[in-house]
Amino acid sequence: MSTKLNLQDFIEKVKRENPNEPQFHQAVHEVAEILIPYINEHPQYLENKVLERLVEPERVIQFKVTWEDDNGEIQINKGYRIQMNSCIGPYKGGLRFHPSVNLGILKFLAFEQVFKNSLTTLPMGGGKGGSNFDPKGKSDREIMRFCKAFMEELYKHIDENTDVPAGDIGVGGREIGYLFGHYKKLRSKFTGVLTGKGLGFGGSLIRPEATGYGLLYFVECMLKEKNESIVGKTVSISGSGNVSLYAAEKCIELGAKVLTLSDSSGYIYDPEGIDAEKLKTVFKIKLEDYARISEYIQYYPHATFVAGKRPWEVKCDIALPNACENELDLSDAQKLHANGCILVAEGANMPSTPEAVHFFLDNGILYGLGKAANAGGVATSGLEMSQNSLRLNWTREEVDQRLKRIMQDIHEQCKQYGGSIHNNINYYKGANIAGFVKVADALIAQGF
Ligand code: GLU
Repeated sequence: MSTKLNLQDFIEKVKRENPNEPQFHQAVHEVAEILIPYINEHPQYLENKVLERLVEPERVIQFKVTWEDDNGEIQINKGYRIQMNSCIGPYKGGLRFHPSVNLGILKFLAFEQVFKNSLTTLPMGGGKGGSNFDPKGKSDREIMRFCKAFMEELYKHIDENTDVPAGDIGVGGREIGYLFGHYKKLRSKFTGVLTGKGLGFGGSLIRPEATGYGLLYFVECMLKEKNESIVGKTVSISGSGNVSLYAAEKCIELGAKVLTLSDSSGYIYDPEGIDAEKLKTVFKIKLEDYARISEYIQYYPHATFVAGKRPWEVKCDIALPNACENELDLSDAQKLHANGCILVAEGANMPSTPEAVHFFLDNGILYGLGKAANAGGVATSGLEMSQNSLRLNWTREEVDQRLKRIMQDIHEQCKQYGGSIHNNINYYKGANIAGFVKVADALIAQGF
């Protein structure tokens, strides 16, 4: 008879063995507080030490990236790939280029990815990688030189059946293009080793839109469950990258009114709503000019730019934190609630602090956590992998239909495993348990 797990002891051990990795501790705590009671009732998971095994990455790769900037100066960055778990498929997950990147952040993201990828119903394990390289203000040539230098080492550890990276913060279509080009050169092989590729060289239609669209498909399921509709609802969105812009696009298409977007310098608030025409301008500002979101008020002076703040003080029905981890804390959650917000769904990974999450759950706010709500991005990466293996391209409609079905399926799994809390589906519990069961059963079946 195995000893039952105790949450506090378990977390203390994880902290002791992985010091100075607060985001990883937070991600593990979030999962463990849901899973430990479940595991304690299921002896096969307890005896096989499944949770203890899941918090340990299968492999951690760390390397040096040296590259030359436009002034001819040598620059040195750290590169990483965390191969977290491969028991249901090749490691799969994005690369993040941001100065905040370190081992702990990538371990948190890789750990989340294992559960998220399992929820998609597709055969993908979990991984994550990246660098503390800061793409902000870098020239196109500098980005290219950095990507090549990064791939110079990473190519030894990845291929289409082993580990398939994609984008994340700071890594979009341009970077994936450079990374793919260099991989092909080094290996003399044209394969689907990365996802998020350009359409002309193996990319999938809908992949850039997928996280944002998928988020809204999930929100529609959440609302439908409550006999509510998104039509006419006001929406606050943070961030202004791929996820946020395509989430905004889908909101507008479905008849909601988008009030805000943001970046690290602050947020814009357009009381009249950011419509399809204005959104085109934002696409230009962010994805063509690589400029700041504050530019928006140059085009639309009736809107306001609030420097250094997050949009959660704006009155809205729905909040979509799509920027980065821990961007929404307890006081933000309280403000949203006081302003009548009924639903929060996360396009980013772990954007709500643990206190904010519990506030949502305890106060009857519908809460769609990132692992479930933002899984559309990696799910469509999975569809890109399938198309690459088949050497076929599916139509826009076909990919979109599959994405929608996957999001509905994730919603069903949450419902099945989550039960209810304050008359809402407990997505927090449901997503964590559903994601876990498939991986845990595979882990046991494959021995240790
Ligand atoms: N970075 C995205 C995520 O957090 C996508 C990963 C992928 O497509 O592999 O899920």
